[in-house]
Amino acid sequence: MRHFSASALVLSRSPYGERDLIVRLFTPDAGRITLMAKSALGSRRRFSGVLEPFHLLSITCRAGKNRLPLLTEAGIIETHGGLRKNALAAACAGCWADMISRTLAEEQPAAGIYVLFRQLLFLAADPAFHSADKLAGLHIAFGLKLLDHLGLRPNLTECRSCRRKFSDIADHRAGLASGAGGAVCAECGGKAGEARGDKGVLGLMNWLLNAEADALGHVSMEFSRFSLMDEFIDGLLTQHIGRPLKSRILAYHFFQDESAKMQRLPALRHPHRRQPGYRR
Ligand SMILES: [Zn+2]
Repeated sequence: MRHFSASALVLSRSPYGERDLIVRLFTPDAGRITLMAKSALGSRRRFSGVLEPFHLLSITCRAGKNRLPLLTEAGIIETHGGLRKNALAAACAGCWADMISRTLAEEQPAAGIYVLFRQLLFLAADPAFHSADKLAGLHIAFGLKLLDHLGLRPNLTECRSCRRKFSDIADHRAGLASGAGGAVCAECGGKAGEARGDKGVLGLMNWLLNAEADALGHVSMEFSRFSLMDEFIDGLLTQHIGRPLKSRILAYHFFQDESAKMQRLPALRHPHRRQPGYRR
C-alpha cells in the first residue's frame, strides 16, 4: 500500500507495545485494512479520542518500512455517539464489525457491505432504534446481506428439497433448515425433523434480504422470530468460518435479556442453545 487517503470506519484497535496501536479499518474502496498508529498511546498521545470503534474518519497513511502501513493523519467525520448510550446497540455494532473482520479478506473491496455498515451504524446510533424489536431487524438484515455478499444467499422462496415454490403450496407451515442452507416445506422438513418457523418468517426474511437500509426502520420484530432467524444465520456463518463467533453469541444474549425485560419475564441465563462450547 502506497500513500493513501480515504474515509474509513474503525472496526477495532489493539495496543502494540507501550506506545503504538494497531487499528483495523473498513474503507469504501480498499475494503478492510490494518494500520499502525505510532505513539497513539503513552503520555503524549497522538490521535487522542479519534481511533475509537465505529468512528467514521478521514485518514491518510503511507507505507511502513517493513511492516504495516503507518497512519499519518486521522480526523473525525462522525462518532456515532448514540451507540455508546445503549448496550444492545453497541453489542450489535460490535458484532457487525467482528463479522466483517472475520469474513472479509484484507484489502478486498466490499463497497456494498461498507455502505450497509455505515448506514446501519447511523441508524443504530439513533435513540429511536434503541429497543430490541427495532435493532432485531437491523441485526438480521446485516447477517443476511453479508451472507449474500459471501455467496451464501439463502433461497427463501422455494423448498430446497422438493423445489416447490412456497407461493404454490397452500400449507402455511414451512421452515428454516440451516443444515440444508435454506428453507424447506412442511413435508420435506417434517421428514428431516428440522424445519422451524412458518411462511411468515420466510417472507419477512426475504424482505429483509432485499430491503434498502433506509426501509429497515419500519421493521419491528418479536424475539421468537428473531431467535429463529438468528440461529439460521449463525448456522450458515459458523459453517463458513469454521467456528461460532463469540460476538454473535454475546449479541444474542443481549437480545434475549432485553426481550425478557420487555415481557417482564425473568432473564434466561442458560438457553437451550449456544452453550459456551466455542473456542476463543
Ligand atoms: Zn419440499
